[in-house]
Amino acid sequence: MQQTQTLPATLDLPTGTARVEWRRNVRARRVSLRIHPADGSVIVTLPPRASPKAGMALLMDHVDWVSNRLAALPRRVMFEPGADVPISGVPHVIRHRPEARGGAWIAEGELHVTGAPEFLHRRVLDFLRQEARRRLGALVAQKVEMVGVAPRRVILKDTSSRWGSCAPDKTIALSWRLVLAPDYVQDYVVAHEVAHLRHMNHHPVFWALVEEITPYRRAAMRWLKTEGTRLLRIG
Ligand SMILES: [Zn+2]
Repeated sequence: MQQTQTLPATLDLPTGTARVEWRRNVRARRVSLRIHPADGSVIVTLPPRASPKAGMALLMDHVDWVSNRLAALPRRVMFEPGADVPISGVPHVIRHRPEARGGAWIAEGELHVTGAPEFLHRRVLDFLRQEARRRLGALVAQKVEMVGVAPRRVILKDTSSRWGSCAPDKTIALSWRLVLAPDYVQDYVVAHEVAHLRHMNHHPVFWALVEEITPYRRAAMRWLKTEGTRLLRIG
């Protein structure tokens, strides 16, 4: 975006420094501020004609709001030795095994990861994505059996705005991070997207089908609302 050089890339707060990202959005109606939950950056969105000054003014007016929102973010969990990573909602401590071979595996409730330290993050991520594919794939197959319509394909994504989606071409997209959530949450999100293969809307008939193929709708929605952000702070 233009004039970026005149806009600050960071914001100094009493609690530390936050990264600021400036975005120009043709569809935006007004200047807006939000916090990116994954990395805690502050995103200022400007409509086409708004001046960067207006964005700056909004930001300065909301320094306390930004501070409070950042302070309220769930703790960040990095993929590093000793970190506690939930898999299907169950905490697994990362054990680095530089001397061992075989990639990554779960044993006795811990996640063992081999190789050089600089590859640990990548290896944990690859392992979790592979687990996500396996666990969510099995759930998709199970729900597909129940509704009698199959997706064209199932892809894994890393989105912060939605846990799953179903496109009109019957492509189901799921966040790999669902593998971190409890089984019943995975069950519900998969059921929701598979139900869209029959109904591309959220009409009562859609929800009736969802409830036919998962008993966890309400509990899972509640969990995602209160705990979902935590999943974005992992890795
Ligand atoms: Zn939906």
